[in-house]
Amino acid sequence: MSQFKRSLVTTALPYANGPVHIGHLAGVYVPADIYVRYLRAKGREVVFIGGSDEHGVPITIKAQKEGVTPQDIVDRYHNLIKKSFEEFGISFDIYSRTSSKTHHELSSAFFEKLYKEGKFIEKTSMQYYDEKAGQFLADRYIVGKCPHCGNERAYGDQCEACGTSLNATDLINPVSAITGNTPQLKETKHWYLPLDQYEGWLKEWILEGHKEWKSNVYGQCKSWLDNGLQPRAVTRDLDWGVPVPIEGVKGKVLYVWFDAPIGYISATKDLTPDWEKYWKDKDTRMIHFIGKDNIVFHCIIFPAMLKAEGSYILPDNVPANEFLNLEGDKISTSRNWAVWLHEYLEDFKGKQDVLRYVLTANAPETKDNDFTWKDFQTRNNSELVAIYGNFVNRALVLTHKYFEGKVPKAGELAPYDKEVLAEIPCIIERVEKNLESFHFREALKECMNLARLGNKYLADTEPWKLIKTDEERVKTILNICLQITADLAILSEPFMPFSAKKLRGYLNKDSLNWDEMGADVLPEGHQLNEAGLLFDKIEDEEIQRQLDRLQATKKANEMNNVKVAPAKPNISFEDFQKLDIRAGKIMAAEKVAKTKKLMKLTIDTGIDQRVVVSGIAEYYTPEEIIGKRVSILVNLEPRNLKGIESQGMILMVEDADGSLAFVAPEKEVKAGSEIR
Ligand SMILES: [Zn+2]
Repeated sequence: MSQFKRSLVTTALPYANGPVHIGHLAGVYVPADIYVRYLRAKGREVVFIGGSDEHGVPITIKAQKEGVTPQDIVDRYHNLIKKSFEEFGISFDIYSRTSSKTHHELSSAFFEKLYKEGKFIEKTSMQYYDEKAGQFLADRYIVGKCPHCGNERAYGDQCEACGTSLNATDLINPVSAITGNTPQLKETKHWYLPLDQYEGWLKEWILEGHKEWKSNVYGQCKSWLDNGLQPRAVTRDLDWGVPVPIEGVKGKVLYVWFDAPIGYISATKDLTPDWEKYWKDKDTRMIHFIGKDNIVFHCIIFPAMLKAEGSYILPDNVPANEFLNLEGDKISTSRNWAVWLHEYLEDFKGKQDVLRYVLTANAPETKDNDFTWKDFQTRNNSELVAIYGNFVNRALVLTHKYFEGKVPKAGELAPYDKEVLAEIPCIIERVEKNLESFHFREALKECMNLARLGNKYLADTEPWKLIKTDEERVKTILNICLQITADLAILSEPFMPFSAKKLRGYLNKDSLNWDEMGADVLPEGHQLNEAGLLFDKIEDEEIQRQLDRLQATKKANEMNNVKVAPAKPNISFEDFQKLDIRAGKIMAAEKVAKTKKLMKLTIDTGIDQRVVVSGIAEYYTPEEIIGKRVSILVNLEPRNLKGIESQGMILMVEDADGSLAFVAPEKEVKAGSEIR
């Protein structure tokens, strides 16, 4: 990569209609941050660009649902996302947003240039229009049945059930998401980027020119290109977004996927007046970190836009990741099935590195992967605490104990010492090689191998035993351990910057340079600071709390999915009047022997005291219901249940999960009062 002078690293713009979750982090932001921190540590020139994607239909729909403006929605989530990225240590040089003035101007100018140069085709087509709402139904404003999988809630641009990209006119029985009305087709004009005209160039550029791209990325591009590209509309009939900058055109904005990637450029422009050197100089290497759902936009559509514009560089690599699942289930914002970053930061204060570590160790680099809380706990307790933390802590504590916290002088090296020291440059080289080629899991594994090496060295040499007989030897051992510790503080920084900083504090070294690794970083006699624990054990209760929360989410989702029973046929008022329902009170209650569900209740009906057998024993104990108000149907034909005559029926409501609750007067009333 040495032909490049500098790097421009971009991360997919998170969509500002919800918070960021672990799937986003594992797929995009953690690997990008590791990569950028590594480049910086190596002294290479790099800018790290991020920002919120604030246009598009999901935002206007959410705003309409909540009765607020789209700007309210994007302000809320942009600020939340920005703050949680900061706390999590994602070290953007700028985190911008597409509702900014710079972005509106730049994306507008970008479109205008292409328009004036005749790079678009104008097409009039029939689009769905909601008469009642008075607007065209772009993308998610229209729902209907997916022609591929039959999902009833497919959107006008995509079916989330089968992942197929759709046109609104493909949907079966389409309805407006705003009014629920059946929309009409109406003529409208739009501008299209003729991707078919770029097909030959894209084939050459990607399929011939970028064989080094990750196989999942290359494969997806190849499949798109093999299937043939179609012109793609880059405008929409909407009022939220960047207005189409053509004279006389009203009520149309740039398609969100046209303006969003231009957001990388406008963010760079917001960062520095010198932005053009990052975007227009062939010596800049541009790298897009994204998830697999964005491959087509970053490898085909955006490059075609840049090529059409003509003055910008193209991405050199797009190391897209696959998806991370959560506890065996697909992460979903709408089903609330996620670990949200802002909640994690709240629940696990000061433990940013644990999540960074787990998401990297388990990164979905080549296939979808699963995040489980149990694995999170295990990796923390048996890797970070037991290996990394344990080694560092022992090295520091022993130095304080034996040598007043001063780095002891290394004497003559034993063969084993030399062997261990010789391993360090090999580990560093493997970490670098893996980072350069976007193999972050492997790089982290190698980084931990340095901690393993130190931990084993300490366990093998046992200085705590030797101290009584051979202090000189202990000096050498601890000197080596401390040098490894300093190397770890440098090598682990891209992955776990918070712990690395803590460790530099313990070592009393404000700054450590990447190039110093493997050499004697700490001079003899250097005074160390008091050492604390680098990582804490995570207890079962903390994990259980997270699992309980997910369980509650699962239950809530199940409840949402339960369909309410259809209405029964009408009855006459006379029919209703035949029911004699009274307010009553439970005087006595006992479980019916040898049954699971039945309870024998004695009810004061105001008319009499009578026995009713009710199927509530799974939900209530006799003790808790004695004295409770009830509604009782008193003129129901008596029935024999398990040898007991039941004289009436207690009214209960059955919840979606099958549990029962009493339907009773909300205040104390005289027993026998009629319910009607
Ligand atoms: Zn489908």
